[in-house]
Amino acid sequence: MNQSFENTAEFAAQLDQKDSLSQFREQFHFSKNENGETQIYLCGNSLGLQPKSAKQALINELEDWAKWGVEGHFHGRKPWFHYHKFLTDYTAEIAGAKPHEVVVMNHLTVNLHLLMYSFYRPTFTTSASGEKIPQRYKIIMEAGAFPSDMYAVQSQVEGHGLRYDDAVIELSPRNGEFTLRTEDILSAIAEAGDQLALSFFSGVQYYTGQLFNIPAITKAAHAVGALAGFDLAHTAGNIDLQLHDWDVDFAAWCSYKYLNSGPGNVSGVYIHERHGLNPETKRMSGWWGHKEDVRFLMKRGYIPEPGAAGWQMSNAPVFGMAVHLASLELFHEATMSRLREKSRSLTSYLEFVLSQAKLSNPVLQFNIITPANPDERGAQLSLLTDDKGKALFDYLFAKNIIADWREPNVIRVAPAPMYNSYSDVFAVGKAFMDFPG
Ligand SMILES: *Cc1c(COP(=O)(O)O)cnc(C)c1O
Repeated sequence: MNQSFENTAEFAAQLDQKDSLSQFREQFHFSKNENGETQIYLCGNSLGLQPKSAKQALINELEDWAKWGVEGHFHGRKPWFHYHKFLTDYTAEIAGAKPHEVVVMNHLTVNLHLLMYSFYRPTFTTSASGEKIPQRYKIIMEAGAFPSDMYAVQSQVEGHGLRYDDAVIELSPRNGEFTLRTEDILSAIAEAGDQLALSFFSGVQYYTGQLFNIPAITKAAHAVGALAGFDLAHTAGNIDLQLHDWDVDFAAWCSYKYLNSGPGNVSGVYIHERHGLNPETKRMSGWWGHKEDVRFLMKRGYIPEPGAAGWQMSNAPVFGMAVHLASLELFHEATMSRLREKSRSLTSYLEFVLSQAKLSNPVLQFNIITPANPDERGAQLSLLTDDKGKALFDYLFAKNIIADWREPNVIRVAPAPMYNSYSDVFAVGKAFMDFPG
């Protein structure tokens, strides 16, 4: 931890003044309480704030639709026929990928299914008595993954006639620990060996805030002949990703958490070019992934667009994508490397003020279960509380501090570097310090 931090409003204000990203705060609408007072918003891990530019972006598309009708596909300011392409370069920056390795489409869980259809392909042999015996069929993932991921994986393995308990290896932390050690993940992958078909971890774990070592996990999976995919819901827009250089096979994320694109909005997908440029890679196909210049010949026989674009099924949901694009423009301007640099410092400052509060207020009972090493976490700290945890959370809410509560007993606090300030973080520490119990 940075020992040079001070727990004063003046010190926080000084850091804000030196912050080269501080002007981005003005580009967002901060939520308000019932009395119209602005809240201190530390919940960008769950739903990012609205960029002020989102409204006009949406209005533009409504206007173009009003003006052009169906001709909006080819006219208008951003013709809808190519709409997904307006997002490609920015999305590649978020993912650390080549432009043809990314596409924005559908929603996250849907995309996880589409990707697992392509990249979870268990193999079987037949015994002398004609019985089907699975060979390379296991999926390794963290225990306590986000429920949608568990359900998606369950239905995928069952769809291949396999049982979850047999096909899925769930890794739990060691006794008395809250997060997984990288060495334990790597040795479990090695142990699964040639039975392992897929490693499928999150990037930043939604509950603990742990950032998994994506390149090391990918390398270990490849070493045993398996593929490595990641759910980057809490990672995209939070961590400076380099998915291509890390050799990750596939990934998907949503746009409404750190990417600030609005409730339930579209998802981003990354597919390494060795799969994406291979027309033999199995996929679920739809007309929008068909080769663009012949898409409207409406003929039998699927010819994919090269790259991730060849996984598109449906024509682009323009209203959602317009908002996502408005937000991605801000990320492009801020750059992920600057955001990540600020994030390390901002989250360390949060850790500092919370530890100070704990020292001075004996009523507070919590432990930060997120790793203390800034390389092993993003913007979020997860506080494991006692039976007063819910009261603490409600008290924060009453003090206009928006964090979030995850059953059974975790408060997640996430200062988003795009719009949160050191002064926000200081105010959180102050509120903790004053918690009456
Ligand atoms: C937020 C989140 C989801 C949500 O999926 P949707 O399909 O967008 O509802 C899935 N997985 C993880 C890990 C998440 O954090």
